[in-house]
Amino acid sequence: MSRKFLVRTFGCQMNEHDSERLAGLLVAEGMEPAEGIEDADLVVFNTCCIREHADNRLYGQLGQLKTLRRRRPDLQIAVGGCLAQKDRDLVLERAPHVDVVFGTHNLAHAPELLRRSAKEGPVVEVLDAPDPSLVDHAPALSAVRELPYAAWVTIQTGCDNSCAFCIVPAVRGPEVSRPVAEVVEEVRTLARRGVVEVTLLGQNVNSYGRDLTRRRPLFAELLRQVGAVQGVRRVRFTSPHPKDLRPETIAAMAEVDAVCEQLHLPLQSGSDRVLAAMRRGYTASRYLSRLAAARAAVEDLAVSTDLIVGFPGETEDDFADTLSVVAEAEFDTAYTFIFSPRPGTRAAAMHDAFVAPDVVADRFERLRRVVERSALRRNQARVGRTEEVLVEGPSRRDPAMLSGRTRQGKLVHFAAREGCVPAPGAFCEVEVTGAAPHHLVGTLLRLTVAPAHRRRIPVSVG
Ligand code: SF4
Repeated sequence: MSRKFLVRTFGCQMNEHDSERLAGLLVAEGMEPAEGIEDADLVVFNTCCIREHADNRLYGQLGQLKTLRRRRPDLQIAVGGCLAQKDRDLVLERAPHVDVVFGTHNLAHAPELLRRSAKEGPVVEVLDAPDPSLVDHAPALSAVRELPYAAWVTIQTGCDNSCAFCIVPAVRGPEVSRPVAEVVEEVRTLARRGVVEVTLLGQNVNSYGRDLTRRRPLFAELLRQVGAVQGVRRVRFTSPHPKDLRPETIAAMAEVDAVCEQLHLPLQSGSDRVLAAMRRGYTASRYLSRLAAARAAVEDLAVSTDLIVGFPGETEDDFADTLSVVAEAEFDTAYTFIFSPRPGTRAAAMHDAFVAPDVVADRFERLRRVVERSALRRNQARVGRTEEVLVEGPSRRDPAMLSGRTRQGKLVHFAAREGCVPAPGAFCEVEVTGAAPHHLVGTLLRLTVAPAHRRRIPVSVG
């Protein structure tokens, strides 16, 4: 009987995609996805260190596994990803029952490390820099995916920026772009397997290719080539850095049919003083003018953003600037975060300027209200329209309903019609009849395109 694995993922889409690649590697080793922790022979935590919460969750879950490990000494436990890259031996100090620790640069080595640890005991292997051979081979491993009709495609790893609050450059290293031809070939392979939507992933997709050409980024060109792949009906990407959003990228978004009308453009703060302290490389007015250029060129563009409340030194005036920029930008969605110091970052050293927790909590709530109002307004403006929806499956909040996404990435819940129950991966037309800040409600009009994939590809990422 095959051994079974479970991959638990913390963090961003990049991590979720890494988990899919890891699952692909383990399946290639003859293992099968487990239903849950009880029937798993191997549990892998793919970690994130961007927020403190992720550390707590990881060490909490590792603590819970201690008893299980005592009962089942054959159970293997591995920790990979950003937190492992940063903490290295500390993971074993805090959780001695862990068998393998691997970092962000050697995910492809994980099966070998697991084999070694089964013979020799605990193994910690963390590389300080990307190994080009592993980067090159990584894409081929993405054959195991959570959704058969949609896929993430890593186009770049690492980051050359130095935002004061961010640990990513320290743990993921400098930017390394995959060659255009390799990315396009991976997308073609995915399309042949029935994938209709791809999301291109990078820490700063706008600078994609700069390391390959030594001069100009190639992101606009990549969008055009990926958008031309037959069978791919939707192309998304995340995240572009506002300072690097170039006119040619906006033009490609406007001109390539497959590129969705969706842009995630992290603002972080509306105060120029705070933006400078964060080392973001733009001012609020520059951000707004790039946003205006994108909206002018791309019809019906939905824009989301990230915002940090309580960055060290943030005054009430700074926060008022954030509220005013957020109100002006009228975002469709905003991911709002309370500043959390990550050891090793510049911001973590600004102890003297930390903002009192009660002040931060009050600002967070005020910002949340502004964000929710604009999200609701933007969604209400869609009521009465007919949207193309890519069906995801039964709704989580009401299994009698179906859920799917519009081209703008908006979640829509709608009821199936008698004799017409679109399967996951199908495209259909839905008339929007209602709106809330985080979703739309609609009525199914008709199925337009049946799913292209033939079978579900097993994965256990959770
Ligand atoms: S652009 Fe800034 S926030 Fe984004 S990964 Fe790079 S350093 Fe971190």
